[in-house]
Formats: sequence, structure tokens, C-alpha cells
Amino acid sequence: MKDSKKLGINTTCVHVGEVKDKQFKGAVSPIYMATSYAFDNVDVKRYPRYYNTPNQEMLCKKIAALENTEDALIFSSGMAAISSAMLAFLKRGDHVVIQQVIYGGTYNFIVSEFDKYGIEYSFTESDKVEDFIPLVKENTKILYIETPSNPLLGITDMQAIADVAKENEILTMIDNTFASPINQNPYNFGIDIIIHSATKYMGGHSDISAGAIAASAAHIEQIWKTAINLGGNLSEQTVWLLERSLKTLNLRVKAQTENAKIMADYLEANSNIDAVYYPGLKSNPGFEIAAKQMEDFGAMLSFELSENIDPMEFQRNLQLIKSSMSLAGLESTTVSPAQTTHALLSEEQRLERGIKDGLIRFSVGIEESEDLIADIEQAIKKAKI
Ligand SMILES: *Cc1c(COP(=O)(O)O)cnc(C)c1O
Repeated sequence: MKDSKKLGINTTCVHVGEVKDKQFKGAVSPIYMATSYAFDNVDVKRYPRYYNTPNQEMLCKKIAALENTEDALIFSSGMAAISSAMLAFLKRGDHVVIQQVIYGGTYNFIVSEFDKYGIEYSFTESDKVEDFIPLVKENTKILYIETPSNPLLGITDMQAIADVAKENEILTMIDNTFASPINQNPYNFGIDIIIHSATKYMGGHSDISAGAIAASAAHIEQIWKTAINLGGNLSEQTVWLLERSLKTLNLRVKAQTENAKIMADYLEANSNIDAVYYPGLKSNPGFEIAAKQMEDFGAMLSFELSENIDPMEFQRNLQLIKSSMSLAGLESTTVSPAQTTHALLSEEQRLERGIKDGLIRFSVGIEESEDLIADIEQAIKKAKI
């Protein structure tokens, strides 16, 4: 599925975009902390907010290689990447079509900021391409998707979306955070702009905030022109930590994905669980499209506790698996969307979106699956009503 790349995936993770230590020949990239660089007799005028210090510039090469694009940019958060990408291509009077189920922060950005700039938007009824088409208007500039989506792991057909966009000369953007570049490369399916919250799998250790965009050189150039005005560049230390994290990206995500498959099978067979949402299960409505467009099915899943299990008690009694608003770290975590990410919606609105009180989103880590299963078993026992 993936275009053949010159280097293997782990070689890319470890070596592409290294900053060479020519002076001392150290094995890892030195950090260039300077915020001040010469402007005379230089090819590049470097400055942190110009996104072109040595560590920033080199790390972008690794990210572009991972997403199979020409170029990339890195940001101080996923939202800095999302807002910079959207505002780079939108002006007053433009219109955007956005997938119904997207990350809460992206939803808030759109509904609380776009009116101020006179940018129009429409949300689809579902993640099906048929629901995007009728919303496309004369002034539509962007189709924005997220697949797999949060929290029910819905799957959007990337190739179908890209085809509709190309017919109408519209740009496509994807939030590729949940899949990570290991499990999905949207550029290969014709999606133009690929966005990540690098706070999640790319960082992977629940200890850095960062964002990334991968795209063609021309699109990156246009985003860059807006990004330098918005100023969401990443600090040098964090660039360096992100580079270090990406060296193990493939190892981590592969191990997490293998674990997630085991957990999905276990949960699906468990009589205390009413439903499991994981694109890798044959029972999942998104399975066939996911199999076509994903390298593998990812390490995020959701499940619904049956009504005889108290969801709060269940979470409180988990000992190994932590409760966490965030996701994608090496440690397994759960969150109750009804009580956290979707708490501001009414119960009716939540049910419309398929989010019941017993729904648990599960970010599967690298612990041994038998330990995770034992933890869930004992928590279920204690939470029986
Ligand atoms: C976390 C997240 C974001 C936002 O990223 P930040 O780094 O928190 O700004 C965007 N999209 C998805 C899918 C996320 O999980």
C-alpha cells in the first residue's frame, strides 16, 4: 500500500534528518539553541519563528519522509498546526466542509473563531463521502476529515474524498493523529495536507506538546507564510525531544497496534461489554475501507460497558491502566467521553453521536496484554451493579 521508500521504516525513523555533529562526531543531533543567526552572506535567514533553525529544519525532513511528502513543518501543538493550516488557505467569504465527528479542539476552533473572520462552514451528517458532496458550494475551499475519528473510530474513505475534492478543485486536509504515519499515509491516497498532534503518537511518551504538517513543497510554503505570522513554532529542546521520540515511532506504534488487536478480540468476546469499536474487527462497518487505506488498524479503540457495570467504578478500579484525557503514550489509558471530552453536550446530543455513558475510549500501550486483561477483569468484577 505504501509507496516504496528508499530507506526502510526504522532506518528512516532513526536516521533521516539527523543534525550531523561535525565538530565532535557525537552519535545524536546536537541542539542549536541560538535565536540569533547571521544575516550577511548566508543562504538562509534563520530565526526560530521562521521555522528554520537547524533542528527544526532537519526534523521536518524526517516527518516528510514518514508521510511520503515533499516537505513538512513542526509546531508547538496540534492546534497550532491545525489553525495555521486552515487560516493559510481561507479568507473572508470562503467555505469549509468538515466531517461531523472531529477532535473537540478543532470543533471549538471552527465554531468560535471562523465567524469572526467571515469564514463559512458546514458539518457533514456522517463520515460517508455521500454526505460531503451536497455540502460543496461555489466558495468551498477545504474538505476537512479525520480518520480514524474520535471517539468511535469511524473510518472515512480518503480516496473517495480526494476524488470529490479534485473534481471541484478543493483542497483536502486530514487529521492523521490517531493512525500516526506508521499506520496510514494519506498522501498516497491523494489527500493534500496531513496534520498531526505530535503530542500523541509522534511524541509517544506523554511528555511533549507538538504538532506537525506534511504536504507538497508548494502547500508547505503557503502554510509557512501564515505560520510565521501566527508564531506557533516549537522550542529547540522540544524539537530535539521529538526527534528522539520519532526514532522509536515504528517500534512503539507496531507494539501498541498488536496489543490493541488482542484487546479488541478480548473485549468483543467479553459478555460484560456490549460493543467494541475498532476498525480492525471484521464486525466493524469501517473494516473494509480501513483495510484498504491503513497499513494496520492502530492502537485506539472504544468499548461500551454493559448496563450492569458502573462506568465510574470501573475506571476507578483500574490499577494498571490509567485514566487520562490524552492518549497514545506507551502506557495504556482510558477516558470516559461522556464525562470528559463530550461532557458539554446534552445527553440527547451525545446519544445522537453514539456516545453512551458506558462508553470507554482505550489508548492501548505496550504493556503485556495479559496484564491489561487481568486489570480489566478485576475492575469489571468490582464495578458490577
Ligand atoms: C490531541 C489532538 C489534537 C490537538 O493536539 P494538541 O497537541 O493538544 O494541540 C488534534 N487532533 C487529535 C485527533 C488529537 O487527538
